[in-house]
Amino acid sequence: MQIDDFIEELKEKAEKRFDDFKIAEIESISSIKEDAYLEKPTWVGGDNKFVCLFVDLDKSSKISFKKHPVTMAKIYDYFTQTLVDVFNHESFCADYVDIKGDGAFAIYEGEHASYKAFYASITFRKIFEEKIKTKFQDDEGGNLSCKIGIHKDKILVKKIGKRGDYNEVWAGRLVNNAAKLSKQFQDAPEKFNGAKSPIIISEEVYKDFVAQPKFGLYNCHNGDTDILEQRNPVFIEVTDFSDDTLGDKFYYTQVGWCVHCADNYIDKLN
Ligand SMILES: [Zn+2]
Repeated sequence: MQIDDFIEELKEKAEKRFDDFKIAEIESISSIKEDAYLEKPTWVGGDNKFVCLFVDLDKSSKISFKKHPVTMAKIYDYFTQTLVDVFNHESFCADYVDIKGDGAFAIYEGEHASYKAFYASITFRKIFEEKIKTKFQDDEGGNLSCKIGIHKDKILVKKIGKRGDYNEVWAGRLVNNAAKLSKQFQDAPEKFNGAKSPIIISEEVYKDFVAQPKFGLYNCHNGDTDILEQRNPVFIEVTDFSDDTLGDKFYYTQVGWCVHCADNYIDKLN
């Protein structure tokens, strides 16, 4: 085919897709695999809200490993595979997982979506702080850190590619805003009172913890439930923030799993 004909054909195809553009209601994230039609210009979305956990290496670290591609590859291998393994934990398993750049994101659905994303983030953060960070500590004292953001919103997604070789494209704000939250730590570390790799959640996610505090709104005091009046909030509010779509506040925490009752929290998901 002549290149001119090829170009004309692609223009026509794109115009036809534009005219036929549709959005179909989505019930479950797993149906993306079948419903995000490859050839039809039909995107899946609707009013259901989903939760995205976005985790990424903090590239702003002044660390010399950037000069060594093999070291960098080892870090990615350690970091990204461990992250995906956490996303696939049997009790707080994600409903969709994808690798993106230096990190990965997971999408959760259902009544426990926010709590599952939170438990996965605490679990990964623990491994990161206790193992990954020290293992790849820079000789010159550079520190590795990671960015963690959790957001809840509607989705808009479609497969784009060719048969047998395609990617889901996330056009809605869910994934981008989870990534944007995670970046707050890199862009404005002064807002976090020296926290290390804090878990940053949007107001939309925070509301789910207010609605059901038993999933971790307050510290557990090692299971001591007698001092309800003195419960310490797990999430710290940051109001020095403004975003068209995320609002004027977010929350962060560096809470870890309680050695006494971590498994009790996870059991509540069942
Ligand atoms: Zn406890």
